Amino acid sequence: MKKEIICISCPNGCSLEVDVENGKVLSVKGGECRKGIDYAKNEILSPLRFVTTTVKITGADLPLLPVRTSKPVPRELCAKIVKKASKIAVKAPVKIGQVIAPDILSTGADLIATRSLR
Ligand code: SF4
Repeated sequence: MKKEIICISCPNGCSLEVDVENGKVLSVKGGECRKGIDYAKNEILSPLRFVTTTVKITGADLPLLPVRTSKPVPRELCAKIVKKASKIAVKAPVKIGQVIAPDILSTGADLIATRSLR
């Protein structure tokens, strides 16, 4: 089966044609460098994404604190992480980079604040 994906490893955004059969990547065409092959294999076999969302915060000027995962997590867990985050409430003050939820859903990624709120 042929799949078309866009490599997002650099601003070039090469269009890649990936030949996949029985869960294996047989070939990758269209990329201008080796990174495209690695990207396509990861994207087909174990896609990862950063999760950005918000958690509730009390005692600050704003009701929500923006957060993200400290590293990419399996794509199939993104919705579960957003749901889990929606149930988290923290108290101000919070500093940018502060860990809000360590090892969220046992992914090895922490949920961290992406801004400071007093
Ligand atoms: S294949 Fe190489 S040149 Fe093309 S988008 Fe990916 S990293 Fe950039």
